[in-house]
This record gives sequence, structure tokens and C-alpha cells, in this order.
Amino acid sequence: MRVLVVEDEAKLAGLLRRGLEEEGHAVDLARSGDDALWRASAAEYDAVVLDVMLPGPDGFEVCRRLRERGVWTPVLMLTARDSVADRVAGLDAGADDYLAKPFSFAELLARLRALVRRGTAERPAVLEVGDLRLDPAARRVWRGNVEVSVSAKEFCVLETLMRRPGRVLSRHELIELAWDAAYEHRSNVVDVYVRYLREKIDRPFGRRSLETVRGVGYRLRGDL
Ligand code: CA
Repeated sequence: MRVLVVEDEAKLAGLLRRGLEEEGHAVDLARSGDDALWRASAAEYDAVVLDVMLPGPDGFEVCRRLRERGVWTPVLMLTARDSVADRVAGLDAGADDYLAKPFSFAELLARLRALVRRGTAERPAVLEVGDLRLDPAARRVWRGNVEVSVSAKEFCVLETLMRRPGRVLSRHELIELAWDAAYEHRSNVVDVYVRYLREKIDRPFGRRSLETVRGVGYRLRGDL
């Protein structure tokens, strides 16, 4: 998934970014309330990790304004320890969940997974497209009964496609959804990962589920 992390403390922001990236997620950082508002409105994220204490509009204000603009991306708020007032204010501002500092990274990941699952549309815990299955929590992939081993980034690209079965995604859209902002102009990276994935989920099984739609992009089909 693609996550926006909003935190002005460089050390914690860096830790969050590295940890999420190690799990194969794409991460963008915002260091102020204004930056967060701009980024969360301009790009599609699966979730936002939002600290309360920020320069400019604080986390509560950012969350409130996003909801007013019709941005319903799941928000996980980072609050001060033992501050009931912060938690209440965060939830009332439209946040979906909160985590008190200091937190365990494993819990942050689990809460993010739960938020993305609960999102606006119905999202089952295990994704299925035809006989291809992907478990975001266990980070495992199967074709039929055979488990397929994929790298962290391959997992991220596959998850992106599996959340939109049958839909043609352009290279640009795939970059937007599975890579961070720094990859904007490197569209060939998508072709490389599609090739890797085909070698794992299709070719060994005599399948052609990851289709090239000439001149447009790629589509994952359950019937091929
Ligand atoms: Ca902060």
C-alpha cells in the first residue's frame, strides 16, 4: 500500500519510513500540516499516519479539513501518551484510529492493515483474483495451492493490481500507487516488475493473467 506519514520530528519520521518500506510499502513524508493537506488531496493513499503536534495546522485540523474536502483516506492518529483528550479530539476530527506514543511498530502495522481493510468499500482480509490469493497480513501469495515467493516490492505491485481486478492501470497509475513520489519519471521500472511477477505467478502455471493492454498499461484478470 501507499502511505502518507505526517510527522515533523525527523528521527521518528525516518524510522516510520524505513520500517514501512522494509515491509514493501510506498511511503511519502509530510513535515507540516499544510504539506499534509496538499499531499493528501493531490495523490491517492491507502492510509495516512498523522501526528497531532505539527507546525501549521495541527493533526486534528488537518484531519477535519481533509474530511471537509471529501478525502476519506483512513487516518491513524499518533497521540501523546495517556492523553484521553487527544484521542477524543482525533476521533471526533474524523480519524479512524489512534496510537499513543511511544508505540510498537508491529502494532502500527497491524492497525494500518485493519484500517485499509475497513476502508470505504468492502475489503476482505485476503485478496482473491481467480485462483490467485494474497494475504496482506501474512505477506504471502498463492497460485491455487502452491505458495509463490515474491520480494517486498513485487508484493506491493501485485497487491496494487489485486485491489483493482480487471481494471487497466497505466504505468503512471502503477507508479503512483506502488512507488513513492521520487519515482515519478521512471516508468520503465513498472515493466521490469511486471516481468518479474509474470515469471512467478503466471509462467510456471501456464497462465497469462497479467495482461499487457497495448498503449495503455496492465490488467490483472482472474479468468486467464
Ligand atoms: Ca510532531
